[in-house]
Amino acid sequence: MRTHGSGEYLILVAGIFLLAPEAALAQPRGYENHQVVSIEVAGEAQLEALRILDAASRDLEIWSESLRAGVVEARVSRDQKRELDAAGFGYTVLIENLQARIDEMYADQGHGFFDEYRTYEEHLALMRDLAARYPTLARTVDLGRSVQGRALMALRITGPGASKVGLLYHGAQHGNEQGGAMLVAYVAEHLLANYATDPEIRALVDNAEWYLLPIMNPDGYAVYERYNWHGFDLNRNWGSPGSGPHPFSEPETAAVRDFFLAHPNVRLYLDVHGYEPWFGWPWARTSVTCPDDDAFHSAGDAVRNLIAAAGGASYAIGAISEVTYPVTGSSVDFSYGDLHQWAYALELASPAIPEIYDHYVSSLLFLASWVSDCNGNGIPDLAEIAGGGVPDVNDNGIPDACDIASGHFVDVPTGLAIRLTLHESRPNPFNPRTTIAFDLPQDMAVDLCIYDVRGARICTLVDTELLHGSHEAVWDGRDASGRGMASGSYFARLEAGGRVETVRMCLVR
Ligand SMILES: [Zn+2]
Repeated sequence: MRTHGSGEYLILVAGIFLLAPEAALAQPRGYENHQVVSIEVAGEAQLEALRILDAASRDLEIWSESLRAGVVEARVSRDQKRELDAAGFGYTVLIENLQARIDEMYADQGHGFFDEYRTYEEHLALMRDLAARYPTLARTVDLGRSVQGRALMALRITGPGASKVGLLYHGAQHGNEQGGAMLVAYVAEHLLANYATDPEIRALVDNAEWYLLPIMNPDGYAVYERYNWHGFDLNRNWGSPGSGPHPFSEPETAAVRDFFLAHPNVRLYLDVHGYEPWFGWPWARTSVTCPDDDAFHSAGDAVRNLIAAAGGASYAIGAISEVTYPVTGSSVDFSYGDLHQWAYALELASPAIPEIYDHYVSSLLFLASWVSDCNGNGIPDLAEIAGGGVPDVNDNGIPDACDIASGHFVDVPTGLAIRLTLHESRPNPFNPRTTIAFDLPQDMAVDLCIYDVRGARICTLVDTELLHGSHEAVWDGRDASGRGMASGSYFARLEAGGRVETVRMCLVR
């Protein structure tokens, strides 16, 4: 076990390491000319028009999680509002001057840490402080770096003992959702401050390896934007199709993925957002019911009841595709679908302090107890399994008695199951040839063809059964008879296992 002195030394070294990249970071953009508006969206065509504005300009950023016809909240500049007027959108102004609101939010009123919203730097300082004050229980962990080089800093909290279930809770995957960051930091402080005196907290800390990452999207958080510094929605970057050039193109999502792969004992993942009252689980990408829906639902029910009992909002619970609308590339689908973790997304009904702590802390503690000590006997599940006390025939780290009735986990391997993915061709644009890479989750028949923009099949690159794993094919810009094709756009279309993936390529002669 580390001594107090060496703990402080480690923290100092980490602090020096962090200073260099942070010093050069871009400053907040300044939102004096921006408002937050509630836009009335009449139908799919208007919704698409709004999506295009969102993708095309930093002057409009959609904030609503549920992107569907009806009402959509967005940040817009005054210039952009004139474009909304011209396009015939109706809207009401929710926040007149966004910068004034941000300044007010972060004004230091001299209260305690949790009485006010805190900046990214203040969150880092809190974590370093907690690690220094509780050196036997807590230490900071750097999961990786953002686009701009900010640390994705988590606090690892656990008591003595080994063989524990791990869990990761994070906030602010969307950088403008501060409530989640405050709540996750609050849980860290709550565990540490009550460990010595509260036997239930002590059991939770001793039985699980907690990773609490208040801010997953630090660049977005620093400038009060939903997206990361590249302008991508990180919660659509964990799979395909999604936001960004390819899955895990963004350093923030890649860092958390790599953390998961390096910590296979992590069985529970919670992604905290704000602000709509729902609590959801996979699938997000399809309305098909996931095999573990019953188990997700039973814990979901408990969370809903705990929130209500604490005086919180009345919650909708269910598969995310049900409680909102289907989205691809979300973190919960990756966490559950590829890593077979228990994966939940919690939306905070409102980001108001101190209600977020009062309403949600018991739920966050419950989820940890549910996944780390399912029979409630005070012994971590992994330790019981290791000692032969309870069976775990599928070797998933959760006692069979607590596995879901469906038995879905029985044939799940540990480690990363690859999803069918067709990567962007490289180089692109290209002349005369480009390489197309793709990943197969299992041995399967593959049909990879090139099409032109009119949908005519130009040639076939692969038409055979391939082994699971990563593969590449090269297109030399010629058709099946060897004629060089003209400059223009072409599509690579991969069909395998009943799924189709397409990427666009540009040939420039
Ligand atoms: Zn969100």
